[in-house]
Amino acid sequence: MTKADLVTAHTTDIPRHNPCAQCGTPIAQPDWVEPGAGRISYLWTCRACNYRFEAVAIFDPAAAEHPPLAA
Ligand SMILES: [Zn+2]
Repeated sequence: MTKADLVTAHTTDIPRHNPCAQCGTPIAQPDWVEPGAGRISYLWTCRACNYRFEAVAIFDPAAAEHPPLAA
């Protein structure tokens, strides 16, 4: 898989049925998706236990380690 393929996959495919970090119940889709530098953040809310957590998908480690807005 090329780097271009990875970027395409992560920018077009929203992860689904991610298991809750607390009780393990699959969550259909994230409540919020926030693209960042070299990464995409997903906010998940569990309907079973109301636990909320964030998962980050890093598709460009170089950009994530050196974000443009960093000091
Ligand atoms: Zn849960």
